Amino acid sequence: MKFQSLQVDLAFLDLNGRFNKMQNINEIEELIKLISKLPGLGPKSAKRIVLKLINNRDELVKPMANILAQVYKNVIRCQSCGTLKSNSLGCNNCENTKEKYNKICVVEDIADQWSIENSNIYKGYFHILGGTISSAGQRKEDLLINSLVERVTKENIEEVILATSATVEGQTTAYYIQDSLKKTSAKVTKLAQGLPVGGEIENLDDGTLYSAFKNRAGINTNSD
Ligand SMILES: [Zn+2]
Repeated sequence: MKFQSLQVDLAFLDLNGRFNKMQNINEIEELIKLISKLPGLGPKSAKRIVLKLINNRDELVKPMANILAQVYKNVIRCQSCGTLKSNSLGCNNCENTKEKYNKICVVEDIADQWSIENSNIYKGYFHILGGTISSAGQRKEDLLINSLVERVTKENIEEVILATSATVEGQTTAYYIQDSLKKTSAKVTKLAQGLPVGGEIENLDDGTLYSAFKNRAGINTNSD
């Protein structure tokens, strides 16, 4: 019954070109466009989501609008380590850490950090690049590589573990970082064989991640 009504509504929205002119609901079209830009969602799922939202104005639209405004206002990227933080507080990822470590693990996204943390195979700092060198529109400066070099020097880091994806972009980025770290005395290692070609850290199971960490290999000449 519900499914049937969804079909009708979707068909209704499919006519949105004509419908918008008559009813002036550009907002819906705009929202569908924005939602379809989210990972894993196309126009069809975006329409379903928008319908769900519209049908639950008080339970979903209102609190979501509020929280989105707050996130926009209060959540920023730490310019030192790349994690997300509240703009009124210090960074729990690189400043207010309880323990001192001698390792930094470099990942592309926070989701990668979460996967590694959940698997309990690594204790140390994280550095979040926020993308790769060849990601569309990604500037090298945005990857905070200079700040990584600074952190390595300042914190007397002994090992930098490059945990970028086994994709061309991930490996190009790893190479670039390795080159930037030549001026430091840190040993640079890279996740190993366990990592399937094209594998993204976030999607690896704990076993694969564990073996990739355990078998990581030094990739610079001043390693031991
Ligand atoms: Zn930070």
